[in-house]
Amino acid sequence: MAQFKADSLEVARLCASCQKASFDDTYFPPRSELLRTQYHFVDQLPDLGKLDASAGKGCDFCRFLRTIILSGDTNDLLTHVLGKGIAGLGTRTVGIQIFYQWNLQPAGLNIGGMSILLSIEGGHSIELWCLVERALMGTETTISRSVAEWLSLSPPNRQSYTGDDCIRWLNDRIRNCCDNHSHSVISEGFIPERLLDVHQEPPRLVRRVDICSGPRVKYAALSYCWGSPADSKSQTTTTAATLAQRLAGLEESEMTAILRDAVHITRALSIRYLWIDALCILQGSRLDWEQHCRDMHQIYGSAHVTLCAASSTSCHEGFLSQKGTRIRFPFQSQEWPGMCGSYDVQFKYALTNHELNPGSLEDFDERLCRWAYRAWTFQERLLAPRRIVFGKSRIYLACGGFNELMSTKPDGGEGDPTALSVSQLYRLWDEILCE
Ligand SMILES: [Zn+2]
Ligand SMILES: [Zn+2]
Repeated sequence: MAQFKADSLEVARLCASCQKASFDDTYFPPRSELLRTQYHFVDQLPDLGKLDASAGKGCDFCRFLRTIILSGDTNDLLTHVLGKGIAGLGTRTVGIQIFYQWNLQPAGLNIGGMSILLSIEGGHSIELWCLVERALMGTETTISRSVAEWLSLSPPNRQSYTGDDCIRWLNDRIRNCCDNHSHSVISEGFIPERLLDVHQEPPRLVRRVDICSGPRVKYAALSYCWGSPADSKSQTTTTAATLAQRLAGLEESEMTAILRDAVHITRALSIRYLWIDALCILQGSRLDWEQHCRDMHQIYGSAHVTLCAASSTSCHEGFLSQKGTRIRFPFQSQEWPGMCGSYDVQFKYALTNHELNPGSLEDFDERLCRWAYRAWTFQERLLAPRRIVFGKSRIYLACGGFNELMSTKPDGGEGDPTALSVSQLYRLWDEILCE
């Protein structure tokens, strides 16, 4: 069993209405997948002034709700579905309801997640899906352990994707793909015009003419979002003026978070070269850009692997750790007065009822990440023979018709509470909205 570091997250303070969002174990064990709480709150978009005022008075859950409702993920989802973000919708009333979701596993029942349902004036509904996990406080106290056992909470799922297990799994699956699947390679022996040599310290840009072409030059290609215009502007790039400098080497301080992560994982996979558009295409050079656009199918099509930074929203955000705004929610049993403690709630995804029946687990993570909304990455998806998708809560290897999911649950438990119950959730949700 993997060891986890305890963290210093404090147990949330709750206002009177947020206390109604607590898990009520009177109905334990539950008979349906969704357990409705008494929480019901009405506020106004785009500012959520009531939540803001309550957060100001000290309610941590009101602050958490406001943060995730106004987050980039929610905004992206609305923009994707309605063509307008939160600001563009104008003043709208929003009703907020909270449910706990049950994960029906062979091993028994446990809380899979918390569903925060937003009913936006005009008939639009959004679900903010949060993972519920056991809290780790200081040393593992008897109290936090007994609450975790009482509620059958999953162990924390906060590992980095750079752990030995994860790298071993990836190397093993890539080898299996190379040995046993025969994917067609777009052009054998193709080498991009420039690559980043990560076996050098510091990594440095190398030109095709300077690479000895062995039997096959292996490189990883990175697929990611640049982020806002301001983020893109502050990204480290290569231009005609900085080319000589990049060929000499890239210092740690010059690397964006996404580049640092990409270098790290490329090295861990024992791949020597990395292709990343911001560095390998001369920015501001129309000629170089046009040349690369012509070669793009070969660049992604010939990469040994494509690293898809699905959980990252900007070049300044890494992708090797699992993420999500988190809150430590207090728990008091209604059945057993001595049983109290807390559990962690971590925001993962914004969903709409248009997202019915995700085709696969991988699709689910990809579609729900900002990365997926970018048209350019769609092309990369189609071209890349082998992709490693770094999602918000999972890592996937996808190649041809094969999709493999790495479970990052320390106990190796299968079952992805998000994906498995989405269709059930919407069935129930429709009933609720009809009431
Ligand atoms: Zn509150
Ligand atoms: Zn394969």
